[in-house]
Amino acid sequence: MELSRAASVLNVMEPIVINTFKEHILTNRTLKCDCEKCRLDIVVLTLNHLQPHYTSTQAGEAYIKALFMNTQLQSDVIQELTRALQVVEDNPNH
Ligand SMILES: [Zn+2]
Repeated sequence: MELSRAASVLNVMEPIVINTFKEHILTNRTLKCDCEKCRLDIVVLTLNHLQPHYTSTQAGEAYIKALFMNTQLQSDVIQELTRALQVVEDNPNH
């Protein structure tokens, strides 16, 4: 077992949240502050409220894509993103 290969572990919620943020939030509304910091804060806050979903990077893209298609997961992510967006817009961290 190779413990040094940390890059082989991936929280698939990361690409899913980032992608959903771009495709469902940014295309539908304008952020009060559209800076890099606020965008990142929204993503981080969302990830902290969602159950992480770890996989090995060997599981590959097909597995991640299958999760993307999970509508329940999608709506959970969108709901959490919307909530995080509200928090960050009300209290921008800068
Ligand atoms: Zn900002």
